[in-house]
Amino acid sequence: LLSINNLNKQFGGLHVIKDLSLEVQSSTVLSLIGPNGAGKSTVINMISGFYTPTSGDIYLNGKKIDGSTPQEMLHQGIARTFQHTRLFGELTVLENIMIGVAQSHKQHLFSALFRSGGMRRQEQRIADLAHAYLDLAGYKGLRHIKAANLAYGHQRVVEIARALAAKPSLLLLDEPAAGLTSGEIVELEHVIRKLKEAGLTIILIEHHMDFVSRISDKVTVIDYGRKIAEGKADEVQDDPNVIKAYLGEEETE
Ligand code: ATP
Ligand code: MG
Repeated sequence: LLSINNLNKQFGGLHVIKDLSLEVQSSTVLSLIGPNGAGKSTVINMISGFYTPTSGDIYLNGKKIDGSTPQEMLHQGIARTFQHTRLFGELTVLENIMIGVAQSHKQHLFSALFRSGGMRRQEQRIADLAHAYLDLAGYKGLRHIKAANLAYGHQRVVEIARALAAKPSLLLLDEPAAGLTSGEIVELEHVIRKLKEAGLTIILIEHHMDFVSRISDKVTVIDYGRKIAEGKADEVQDDPNVIKAYLGEEETE
């Protein structure tokens, strides 16, 4: 589904991603792991169009997509969540998700939503879609709660539901388990499995290794912007380069 070839990203003199190549097969979960500051979010930011690569190629189904805007990436079927949730606190869960639907591929419905009268049918369609995504995530009961009043774990799920509202084929999750209780992580794992069964491809950035081991088809480890290991979770965990990279991190913390 996704192919990345020799990707590089520099911020001025800072070389953050170095000759990174990745292959992600359809309906699989790839976890991207690595110490703090390794460049994981930067990779997701390039795949989702938030950053433009300095060099290298990104292909989605054989089509070159690097350098597209976030909006264009969404249209091509790539949606993401953020490391820090970006919900509108004053709006309900349903409204937040409706915005996700509208922002993605139905811009005209979005404006219809905020015009008065005469647009009931489209409005209903957006609401139906939004309901369907919440349902998929197993959180229908939350829909009329203000986002600001949600527990943190639920905010993270709603953030995923909103990304799903774009009907992506590729979902990029930036540390979705961060700050969740172990019970909530199990729930999140359940949602991710359902999405994979539904045919979605997922790239997951994650620090919780147990979670990563349980859910990933493949794990790629980056350190200082360079790929240092790749394979099944248990192989990667035993890799001397990986152990060294994480030891370095503990010493500096
Ligand atoms: P964490 O686990 O802490 O989230 P990460 O692996 O996601 O880390 P990135 O956020 O990708 O790391 O950052 C990698 C490096 O790139 C860091 O040194 C960071 O300061 C730098 N960086 C990221 N975005 C920018 C930017 N917009 N401008 C300048 N430097 C940046
Ligand atoms: Mg990050």
